[in-house]
Formats: sequence, structure tokens, C-alpha cells
Amino acid sequence: MSKKWVYLFTEGNASMRDLLGGKGAGVAEMTRTGVPVPPGFTITTEACNEYYARGRQFPEGLWEQTLEALKVIEAQVGKKFGDPSNPLLVSVRSGARESMPGMMDTVLNLGLNKETLEGLARLTDNRRFAADAYRRFIQLFGKIVLGVDGEKFEHVMNEAKGKDRQDTDLTADELMQIAETFKTIIKEDTGIDFPEDPYEQLRMAITAVFNSWMGRRAVDYRRVYKIPDTLGTGVNVQMMVFGNMGNDSATGVAFTRNPATGEDELYGEYLVNAQGEDVVAGIRTPKPLSKLREEMPEVYQQFSEIAKMLERHYKDVQDVEFTIERGKLWMLQTRNGKRTGMAAVKIAVDMVNEGLIDKRTALRRVQPEMLNQFLFPIVNPGAAEHATRLAHGLAAGPGAAQGRIVLDPDEAAARSEQGERVILVRTETAPEDFHGMVASQAILTARGGLTSHAAVVARQLGKCCVCGCGDLEIDYKAGTIHVHGTDTVLKAGDWITVDGHSGWVYAGQVETQEAEVIQVIRGQMKPEESRLYGYFSTFLSWADEVRRLGVRANADTPTDARTARLFGAEGIGLCRTEHMFFEGDRIDAVREMIVADTAEDRRKALAKIEPLQQGDFEGIFEVMDGLPVTIRTLDPPLHEFLPHGDREIEELAHKMGINPAQLKAKVESLREANPMLGFRGCRLGIEYPEITEMQARAIFRAAANCQARGIHVHPEIMIPLVGDVSELRMQGDIVRRVADEVMAETGQKIDYLLGTMIEVPRAALTADKIATVAEFFSFGTNDLTQMTFGMSRDDAGRFLPAYVESKLLKDDPFEVLDQEGVGQLVRMAVERGRSTRPDLKTGICGEHGGEPESVKFCHRVGLNYVSCSPYRVVIARLAAAQAVLEEQKD
Ligand code: PEP
Ligand code: MG
Repeated sequence: MSKKWVYLFTEGNASMRDLLGGKGAGVAEMTRTGVPVPPGFTITTEACNEYYARGRQFPEGLWEQTLEALKVIEAQVGKKFGDPSNPLLVSVRSGARESMPGMMDTVLNLGLNKETLEGLARLTDNRRFAADAYRRFIQLFGKIVLGVDGEKFEHVMNEAKGKDRQDTDLTADELMQIAETFKTIIKEDTGIDFPEDPYEQLRMAITAVFNSWMGRRAVDYRRVYKIPDTLGTGVNVQMMVFGNMGNDSATGVAFTRNPATGEDELYGEYLVNAQGEDVVAGIRTPKPLSKLREEMPEVYQQFSEIAKMLERHYKDVQDVEFTIERGKLWMLQTRNGKRTGMAAVKIAVDMVNEGLIDKRTALRRVQPEMLNQFLFPIVNPGAAEHATRLAHGLAAGPGAAQGRIVLDPDEAAARSEQGERVILVRTETAPEDFHGMVASQAILTARGGLTSHAAVVARQLGKCCVCGCGDLEIDYKAGTIHVHGTDTVLKAGDWITVDGHSGWVYAGQVETQEAEVIQVIRGQMKPEESRLYGYFSTFLSWADEVRRLGVRANADTPTDARTARLFGAEGIGLCRTEHMFFEGDRIDAVREMIVADTAEDRRKALAKIEPLQQGDFEGIFEVMDGLPVTIRTLDPPLHEFLPHGDREIEELAHKMGINPAQLKAKVESLREANPMLGFRGCRLGIEYPEITEMQARAIFRAAANCQARGIHVHPEIMIPLVGDVSELRMQGDIVRRVADEVMAETGQKIDYLLGTMIEVPRAALTADKIATVAEFFSFGTNDLTQMTFGMSRDDAGRFLPAYVESKLLKDDPFEVLDQEGVGQLVRMAVERGRSTRPDLKTGICGEHGGEPESVKFCHRVGLNYVSCSPYRVVIARLAAAQAVLEEQKD
């Protein structure tokens, strides 16, 4: 007997997502709980995988099982597939484990041909309805299954409607005529006669769903969301119910809570006398669900009860599709609703307060990166008052964005690649626009509500979006947007500003300002004035209750340190002292130091730097009162500091009072073939010990001064780019000697630690020896990745994207820690280091310290803390909590 590839809805349940896909498991669960669902069956994701394993052939037994399942449905509903006297029509939809715009969507009314069409007309006593169903079927099948450009069909429809009519005004004869024209288009485009045999239609539709799994859009989508290709998609075949049978019929979509704000209100929209694709495609403007309450009060009541029941059943916000056929409600789909970061946090906190979920579940529900959305800029209210308001739509995706209008998704992708800020403006978006949406600063549409494609995708991408801006009349051919009721005509390339919080679209570049949460954190707004802040801080306090990993920040200035602390950083994990010199005249002092020929000249330059350093350190110690501050000795890749070009050399020579030619010769002599592996890190202090000495003095004098003022200082001095313990010992000796000198000079006893970066593979391999001197390790995973892969940090941008694109590497290892390779060195170094020094403190300060998966890895290998940029501290706090929850099986 062949494997079971087909499950009736009555055979499945919610726990079978992997096998049936999200949609299949959802309808099965609804069927099980007694919700009215049109009967149907699901072809499994395993069947899809087997289809590919067999070189795009149906697996053995699949077709036979499909026919059997169809028979069961026929018996259940008393109709027959392909029977002209009483035809059963079905919808065919894709449905992977994760919902995936970009795959084949839906073919409706499958099973219609010239004969069954007549049967449908007779049975419903409604020839127009049957003709409409027929033309829809050919249109969708042509577009989705046979790959004909949908615009060709749209064009025919628009021509037929003329200027003043809607699709509902077309007569039966007109619709039949349109259907014939569609068939001609299909024949011309594909060379295929439109299939009349319903079974052939079904076979082709199932094949098309399977094929769409490997379509470009689906593959693109999976790449962005890191969904493995091996999951496969399910195929759902379901009895058709009709929302287009007259004014007592309708179709719609809804969320059980507002997906943009998280407000606890049934949110949705519907169209009377329409089928599902009309809502998604924005053919007519849908009505808000609140209208249904007036138009069909009983159905509304039943619907809202089912929606709440489903929410309670799944204990999460549901995104549902429904159809009303002659006054009877049918539920077609339910799934967990995608939401913005703000909504995700609010809903999670609210549901805990309602007793629906516990705090742990709440913490699991929010992806750490989503917290970023709380920090997105908003339009400055003052600037907005004086700006030109163009149009208003639905605030669908967070933040505010400025960009140039682009009307075409390919162009959006191309321009953004060139570094331009663009905003994609479309009448409505479709799955094939995805790449352009990813590339844009914001998405703006003229049609569609919070459940439209644009809104759904933007929410998921965390991208600024305003949709349903009805006043925008877009002319793609002319490349213009006319603002309805005004003389304003915008052109592609014009600047606009989109406010994803208020829904306003402004002309030009309107000033933005910091997010509410940041304003509260900075003391510019009272916490109680911000609704968002309350949810944000409550939620993060729950993360802090759970996590064990410390979270510090990388900060080089008192301002950054302050921000970091306000975001909850528990110390500074990396202060890059070379960064303190990028500004103004300071860089000249460092350059003088680098190019100095004699120790005396170098000491002169150092003397200029020392007070500046000391002042900076005092500022940071003050802000971080009571918390540890890790300060790294100088680590400048020389090429970043050397003067570039003749003008800079001349200016510096002038300041130093030396001959430009002489300076140029010196600079030339310092140029390196491989600066990333050259004279940087501790190598500088080894050749010029006076540099380390100066820095140590600045640190300890700053610490002594602060301590004398009652500030609690905990300096941790860190030596970079160590590969051998001898390097650390030599630099450490200098630090300890200077510390003793300053303590003697000031009479202040300062508690400090001496440690090292582990960022050279040799350091990881010899960590047991290095720990004889180091009191802490901080993993510099930027360099460790560079050296483990043998890929230069500065040059990898040229070739790494191709690795990720072709899946040679799952992720860019400079973004997401390579746990298998680099991670092994981290794990080994922790173990070896602690074998020498059991209380060795360990942390990470490479960019990975703020990347959720890498943070979780750091937790698992037993690091004490992660350190990341100030704005990622909240992300790390949540990821660290999730790392604990992932260990617990409940
Ligand atoms: C690192 O290498 O990971 C690190 C934190 O140091 P830098 O990026 O300054 O080289
Ligand atoms: Mg480094």
C-alpha cells in the first residue's frame, strides 16, 4: 500500500502543522471544534517533497488518494465533481507550515467547464452568477496555474466595464464573452487549450502548487525569513462556497485584534457579493467589519463569537477568512495573525493580564528583532504641522520614512542597491513585488486595508507602510500620481515622507524625530504619557526576570553609555579607545603619534592625547557608576588612521611643522598589504609600550578621580588581538605597573580586572595558558570570524552575498555567529580558560552580541554576558530570556 498522502479535514488537527501545513492544520482544527467549515482535504507537505524527489512527478498513490477523498466529499455534500446536473466545485490553495506570501495562492471555482457551468446556472437559478464564477475561474487558473500575466485579464475586464461600471454591473452575456476572450489570451500566450476536463484541471492545479514552492518569489521569501526549503507545501482542496451569490452573500478577512496597534477589537473588512480574491486584489473598496453588524446582524454576531472562540482556543490572535453564502456563514481559514512589533508586545502583555497565557508564553511570542520597531523614528509633530499633507491612509507598518517615489518594484530594488532611499508606491502590491518591498524604506498603496498584501508583508518585515490611500491615483505608464481632488501631481523620483504611525503622507522630506520610547528613556516625555512605553518596559522586565546572561553595551562615549544604560545595559563590554579619536583635531594627535619617528616625538603626541582620554574615561565612569566598564587599549587598523591623499598629508605636515615630502614617505612606509592582519591590536603597544602606558595612566587617573568623588568604578582593562600569552603578559605588566603607580600617587585603591580579547584563533586554542594571566575573556567574534574563515572583514562584502545567495553558507557569518566553526573555538576557549581559572569571566563583544541566535548560543556555552550596540540591548535582553525558555520543556 502506498503512503498516506491525503488527509480529510476530519482526520487532521492543529498539531499536524508540519505534515498538513498551517492552512491545512487550521481548517482541520476548526472542523474538529465544530466551526462551520466547507469540507475538503489536504495533500501533505511530504507529498510535495516526494514530488521533487521524483523529479517533479506525483508520488505513487497520490492521485488515487485524491480521487478517493474527492468521493468522500461528494458523498458528504451530495454533489459530484464534473457532474453537469449537480456540480461540485472546489478551491485549491497552497499552505506551507509557515504562511508564505509568494507561493501559489488560490484557484477558485475549479471544476467549471461549459457543461458544469450550465448546471450551476440552473441549480442556482442565476446565470449571471455562474458566468461570473466561470470567468473568475479562467482568469485565476490562467494567471496562477498557467502563468499568464494577470494584467492582460485585468485589461479586458477594465475595457468591458468602461469608466463608470463596477464588476458587479457586468451582465451574464458580457461575462461569458470575457471568459472566451480570456481563453484566447491563454491559447496565444501558452499554446494550451483551456482544459475542459475537471480532473485535468485539478491535476494541473495541484502540480502548480507544488511547483510554486520552488518559484522565485517563494525562494526569495524563504531566504529573507530563513525558512528551510525542505519543509514543502501542503495543497488544500475544499468545497467552494460562494460569497458572490447576491446581496445576502459576502466574503471577508478579519483579525481578532488590531494587527497594527494590538488594540483588542475585531478588525476586518468584507465585500458584499464578491469572492475572496476581490478583497485581496482591492478591486472594490471593502467595508469595515463594523458595517456587517448593521447589514447582517445575526451573521455578525455568530462571526464575532466564532472569532473570539478561535482566539481563546489558540490562545493567540487569529487571522481568519470567511464567506457568507446566502446568509450562511462559513469559515475558510484561521491562522495566527502577523502583527507589528508594537502590537506583538501589547497583545502579549494584555493576554497575560487576561489570564489567557503566562509570562513565559508571552516572552516566546515576540521575536527579539521586533522590539526594534519601538525605536523607529516618528515624524516630528512640529515639522508635520508645516508640511504639505498629500493624503491619508491606514497606518499599517511602523516608523516614518523619507524616500523618492518609485512605482516599479524592480526599479525599487535596483535603485536601493545603488544606495538610494526609495518608497515603493503601488495601487496595491502583489506577491511578485516582494523584492521591491524589501528594498524600499516604506510602502505606500492606494488600495487595500490592514489585511491587504502590502500591510501583511510590511508588518512582517517591520517596515513603514501606509495602505489604502484612496486619494492617490497612480498612472504607471506616465509615472505619475495624481492626488484626487487637487491639482497635485507627483512624479516618480519626487521625495515624500510616509508616517506609519498616523497614516499621513507628506510632500518632500519632513523631519523625523526619535521614537516615543526613546523620548521617555531620555526624560523628554513622562512614562505615563506614553502608552507604548508602559508595555515595552513591562514586557522587558519579564525578560529580565528569566534571563541569566548579562547584557552590556559597546560604547565609546558618555552619550552612548548613557543611552546604553537607559536601555538596560549592565555595563560596558567594549570601549574602543581608538574610536574616541575619530572626531575633530583629535585624529591629528593620533596620526602624529603613529607617524612619529622617535620615542620622544611619540611621547609628545601622547601627551596631547592623554588628558583627552582621561576626560572621556571620567565621563564614562560617571555615567556607568557602579557598573563594570571594559576599556580596550588602542587597536587601530592603521589604514583607518593614516592621512589619505596629498591634501590631508600637507595639512598634517603643516600642523606638525615638518616637511610634507618627509611625512608622505613615512606614511608610505607604514602602508600595509594586509592591514587587518598587520600592525594593529597589542602589536602597537608591544612596539611602542609608551602608548599602553599612557592609556593605562589615563584610565587609572580617571578612575581615581571618580572614586574620590564617590563614584563606584569597576574598570576592566582589555588587551586586543592577543595570540600568545607572552603578548598579554608583556602588556599586562605595563598596566599593572601603571596601576600601582597611580594608586600610590593618588592614595586610591582601585579594583580592576585585566583581561584580553579572544579574537585570534591561536588565542582560543591556547586559552588555558592565556587564562594564567587573563582574569576575563571577551570574544571578539568579528576578528575571530575573519580569521577562522580567512575572509577579510573589509572585503567580504564583495563575495559573501554570493555564498548566501547560493546557500553555500546559511547566513553571513559576520552577522550570525557561525556556531559550527567559530562557535567551536568559543566553546573550547571557555572550557580551556576555565580549566585554568574556574572563575574566569567571559563575554562577547563582536557584532554577534546583539544578534538573537548568537545570543542564545552564548547562553548555551556559558558566557557571563553579551555586549552589543546600545540600541540592540533590548533585543539581547529578550533573546537571553528566550535562551532560558528554550532549555525548558513545558
Ligand atoms: C571583534 O573583533 O569582534 C571586536 C569586537 O573588535 P573590533 O571589531 O574592534 O576589531
Ligand atoms: Mg577585533
